[in-house]
Amino acid sequence: MEKVKTRFAPSPTGYLHVGGARTALFSWLYARHCGGTFVLRIEDTDRERSTQPAIDAILESMQWLRLNWDEGPYYQTKRYDRYREVIDQLLAEGKAYKCYCSKERLETLRNEQKEKGLKPRYDGHCRDDHSEHSPDEPYVVRFRNPDTGVVAFDDMVKGHIEFQNSELDDFIIQRSDGSLTYNFCVVVDDYDMGITHVIRGDDHVNNTPRQINLYRALGVKEPVFGHVAMILGDDGNKLSKRHGAVSVMQYREEGYLPEALVNYLVRLGWSHGDQEIFSVPEMIELFTPEQINKSASSFNTKKLQWLNAHYMKTLPREEVATELKWHLGRLGIDTDKVEGPALELVVKNYCERAHTLKEMAEKARCYFEDIKEYDAAGVKKWIKENSVEILKDSLETLQAIPAAEWQAATIDKALEGVAAKHEVGMAKVGQPLRLAMTGTPSSPGIGDTMELVGRERAFKRIEQAIAAFSQK
Ligand code: GLU
Repeated sequence: MEKVKTRFAPSPTGYLHVGGARTALFSWLYARHCGGTFVLRIEDTDRERSTQPAIDAILESMQWLRLNWDEGPYYQTKRYDRYREVIDQLLAEGKAYKCYCSKERLETLRNEQKEKGLKPRYDGHCRDDHSEHSPDEPYVVRFRNPDTGVVAFDDMVKGHIEFQNSELDDFIIQRSDGSLTYNFCVVVDDYDMGITHVIRGDDHVNNTPRQINLYRALGVKEPVFGHVAMILGDDGNKLSKRHGAVSVMQYREEGYLPEALVNYLVRLGWSHGDQEIFSVPEMIELFTPEQINKSASSFNTKKLQWLNAHYMKTLPREEVATELKWHLGRLGIDTDKVEGPALELVVKNYCERAHTLKEMAEKARCYFEDIKEYDAAGVKKWIKENSVEILKDSLETLQAIPAAEWQAATIDKALEGVAAKHEVGMAKVGQPLRLAMTGTPSSPGIGDTMELVGRERAFKRIEQAIAAFSQK
């Protein structure tokens, strides 16, 4: 059997949105499932709308999602010589022709067709025009589409699809400025790159019969196609910026793990029974395009949040820590340079206390930065007459703990002694200390919090709080 080769072929006219990412994921999964090859191709022939920042954003998003490619990225703009060669071949064989029709003529034609209630299409005026044209007269190159018969294909997702050739016109493959059109380049590329299966958005279904005719004119076999239905927002409308985050990197910024987004995306339009959680190896094993839903799927942010919470708790801590490091970096904290706890320890303590990595970074910044202020409501509620006394006593007690024993359980035990001595509940000891450690009245258990802060630093923070609260 022929080796499977799939591709993802984004046009770099903007960031990678979730719809594109899902298409990329499905193509990648199919290649991996079959032990095949996955190609990345940047379709940048639209020079006006393609940008380098968009290319960078696509590559960054693919890397973040760990959708690694085996070949590419290929760039269409580097393949002009090859496209010209194919244009010349098609012209020489009479499978394409130069069309000199003026804009005015085409417009009149279109208006006439509209008036008659017909679908606007090129009438083939230049098909057999052998009149002389001067070399500087502008022309486009059109593909000579068959007049009769049907183009049929068996879509991996949608099943059997047929188009009448009489519905298709002689579409332009080279514009008057010499630039080439999508329907042409995509065929030359997919053929040259040996693509066996094309998985893409169903906004391309209408292009597919044109592309198939072109493959046939070139005398080559077309790939198998699978067209994936689009993604709708929670409200049933086409997913757009109105629905909040739509770009992959925006999800990273909001604090989602790549594992959560990938798991979310695979379920968005594909299913395996009612299973929701899939590791990547499991997805690879189980994925087949035949199980992709025919109808559109709706985005469900709640489910993505749920998956994110799941992966924050269950992934190896060092993996979550890598992502946390990135978020702390966005807050201006370079964890390689500043003093602070091991990131895995932060993850251990906060994976159930934060819904996203962004929130975790915000909550954990106090372990890497000095305390500049104390939460006013917390101070009002917890700092009472005897609080400074309790803080002083806590400091003395804690100083007796040797550095090697600076762990949550030891710290908690020592503080229980302080509470007993003052005949108060643990909250009256813990809350002022928590304010001292984090500037806020909420954090993990006080022993855990102090372990995160670190021994020497914890002492300094208690002293700083004693000074601040003594003035109250
Ligand atoms: N460049 C096209 C797009 O971004 C994809 C074309 C294809 O997959 O055939 O929509």
